[in-house]
Amino acid sequence: MAEPDPQLFDKIVNLSKRRGIVFPSAEIYGGFRSAYDYGPVGTLMLRNVKDAWWRSMVQLRSDVVGLDASILSPPAVWEASGHLANFTDPLVDCRHCGARHRQDKLEDPVQCPTCGTRGELTEPRQFNLMFETQAGPVKDAGAVAYLRPETAQGMFINFANVVNTSRKKPPFGIAQIGKSFRNEITPGNFVFRTREFEQMELEFFVPPGDAEQWYEYWCQERYQWYVDHGIPADKLRLRPHGPDELSHYSSGTSDVEFLFPWGWDELEGVANRGDYDLTQHIEYSGQRLEYFDQAANERYVPHVIEPAAGATRTMMAFLMAGYDEETVNDETRTVLRLHHRIAPYKVAVLPLSKKPELIEPAKDLAATLQPHWMVDYDETQAIGRRYRRQDEIGTPFCITYDFDSLEDKAVTIRDRDSMDQVRLPIPDVVDWLSERLK
Ligand code: ATP
Repeated sequence: MAEPDPQLFDKIVNLSKRRGIVFPSAEIYGGFRSAYDYGPVGTLMLRNVKDAWWRSMVQLRSDVVGLDASILSPPAVWEASGHLANFTDPLVDCRHCGARHRQDKLEDPVQCPTCGTRGELTEPRQFNLMFETQAGPVKDAGAVAYLRPETAQGMFINFANVVNTSRKKPPFGIAQIGKSFRNEITPGNFVFRTREFEQMELEFFVPPGDAEQWYEYWCQERYQWYVDHGIPADKLRLRPHGPDELSHYSSGTSDVEFLFPWGWDELEGVANRGDYDLTQHIEYSGQRLEYFDQAANERYVPHVIEPAAGATRTMMAFLMAGYDEETVNDETRTVLRLHHRIAPYKVAVLPLSKKPELIEPAKDLAATLQPHWMVDYDETQAIGRRYRRQDEIGTPFCITYDFDSLEDKAVTIRDRDSMDQVRLPIPDVVDWLSERLK
């Protein structure tokens, strides 16, 4: 059984800063707590996480379509969804040091985790996590708007629009990737819990009688997605919620959990939400959000299975699962063993020296590869150090253009994980890489 590695946390935070993966936001002004900016390398990686999800959930299926709904929404949506009344966390204050905590996350219900004082925590108050703002120049009740705390409602309120325009019928799903905002009481653990984050959610609409079977299906599919993208199975588990954890409308929820440095924690929740959401919107909007099954001549409200994942949190799990240190020639080599689809750059082109006769053809080679993949080109420092830099950001292949290349029109390709090298004629490089980066 794998054990959590508490030191891994700082290593990932440092690597992220050092290599342009994730920066603390507004750093030159002293930082803005719990907000992060994704740097040149992190931007690529986060995009790859989202693309890999989209590929599996939309591109490779014929029963899921996409949506990109607005982030700002009127109170009516959140009244119907139940978020205005219920999207709260229990907040307690420490009378001794003034720190605020989420009561349901306390290890000891009477002790303040900040100062250690016992018996000084206030009674919990329910704190709504939605960010409220105003739309338009006049500040009155009619101008109130909310930043969405989840992407899911976009799918429910567009259910009829999508059915009418896509000709899909249950079982079918609507997928969306985008930003969500929650005024978390205790953000922390780097990008694990932030107030602004990105979600990847699917709402899968099914005939009521098939919900249980589809719930099981999506639990397995989603668990397998992480395994297929390189997270070792001993660092992943599917944990069904106990009856006391379930929301009132859910007849089953399982979390896909990853073994983070602080222990097992949620990556994604898969929930059987029944007909709760559509029924709420039918009631509050007065619209008919049912599905009419012409063949059976019956009308019904589909049930919904929801796999809801976090893109930013998943990226952090990939960084942690991929991080490895090994000793090579008495030196420590840090390598991110990322699945090639997640790796920020797929290939780096490195001229052996800075001599113009090498640089020019090396740049030409990079230009040949760029239409196919994200390519890093680096002519600085000694070749060994450049390999190490690419290892640290998980680049699967490095191509070195050396003096022999001028004669034999061939290059050396080095594999990130094994460090094995092969010599290949330049015209064969695209096919060779295509075979390995599928
Ligand atoms: P928690 O109980 O930890 O606050 P949750 O169970 O309310 O989270 P969901 O509403 O199920 O979370 O959200 C689905 C997914 O969105 C989570 O599994 C997570 O990956 C991501 N997510 C939720 N909140 C945050 C956050 N504050 N920062 C980053 N990712 C988040």
